Amino acid sequence: MLKGLLDNKTCAECRICCGFDNTDLWEMPVMNEKTARKLKELRPDTRFTDCGGSYVTDAGELSDDELFYCPALDHEKGCILGEDKPFDCRIWPFRVMETGDKRFRMITVSPVCPEIFDRPLSQLSEFVKEKLENTVFEYAEKNPETVKKYIKGYPILAIRKQK
Ligand code: SF4
Repeated sequence: MLKGLLDNKTCAECRICCGFDNTDLWEMPVMNEKTARKLKELRPDTRFTDCGGSYVTDAGELSDDELFYCPALDHEKGCILGEDKPFDCRIWPFRVMETGDKRFRMITVSPVCPEIFDRPLSQLSEFVKEKLENTVFEYAEKNPETVKKYIKGYPILAIRKQK
């Protein structure tokens, strides 16, 4: 979904978005049932937390400097989920977030992605407006469990008032 902004080679050499520490476990992708089932078949040891019909892999207790890699990551080949890669991962480093009162949803960009975060915000806003905005907000409408709470410091690239 980020064709034209990020190329596969750059992502394949980085994979920072597939590893999580204590502070960013909330970033772990929300998977639908089909994806979670596929992952369980491919990686039978995977444990999940049920988020009401959607699933997040259970990282267990992590120590301060411990890193948990998503079980779908093959360190040589990349993500093994293919076409079933979660929506969260398809749009990362963009995130859908909402205000505490849930009146507004926004598309933000994660400061963690070293490739994207140094780009001018005007370039990212333009890309979001042209290629992502409608798809992302529509997906969020149908899958509210994927929407994260807004975190200060995440630049807002698009905003939409909830009905
Ligand atoms: S599902 Fe795939 S792309 Fe997403 S975090 Fe896991 S390995 Fe990475």
